[in-house]
Amino acid sequence: MGYRVEYRTSHIETPLFRQKYQDQEKFMAYCRECPRYNTRWSCPPLSFDVAEFLEPYTSVNLLCAKIDLDDETIRAADTEEKIKTVGWEIVSAVKRAADEKLRKLEARIPESLSLSSGGCILCENCTREEGKPCRQPDKMRYSLDAFGFDLSAITKDIFHIEILWCKGSLPEYFTLIHALLAKEPVPEVLFEAVGLHGEDGFPSERKV
Ligand code: SF4
Repeated sequence: MGYRVEYRTSHIETPLFRQKYQDQEKFMAYCRECPRYNTRWSCPPLSFDVAEFLEPYTSVNLLCAKIDLDDETIRAADTEEKIKTVGWEIVSAVKRAADEKLRKLEARIPESLSLSSGGCILCENCTREEGKPCRQPDKMRYSLDAFGFDLSAITKDIFHIEILWCKGSLPEYFTLIHALLAKEPVPEVLFEAVGLHGEDGFPSERKV
């Protein structure tokens, strides 16, 4: 086992969430510096008005995936290349799994919609780079970042976790923040029903 995932959930009313954590001007400036800017349909610039998009959803149901890496995995990633590759493999595997489970949860909750952590990774090459429509619009979910939300503050204030980064080694843990927009708070038991609660015995036999 190279890592384990612990899921935590919380909910907050959308107007309060926007008031406390949204700053589009500030975070769009960061997004514009990202090499993925304008290369994924899930990412900025978005083609719609963000306030109008969020308006129908009164509750933001947050999902935090804390990914604890084991010592051996951290130790074995002893070059910049390995840190990058292993970090990405772990984070993208957990993101894919959480996205899929959240889409299952959407199916149980009328008029709900999930948002993901980071840009869409469903296809190897996104059609946005060719100016063509999304290949999988039924599965693609926008990133929370794309709405200008402050993920560090959300992670710290709501889940009491400091975000860690790769600094010469893999960090002790990664954190991913996803959300389910809905008309009302989603009970924890529904997250649990799709495997998004508590510890996930996430299979990872990966060796660096
Ligand atoms: S599903 Fe494919 S085409 Fe659509 S945003 Fe994701 S990577 Fe791009």
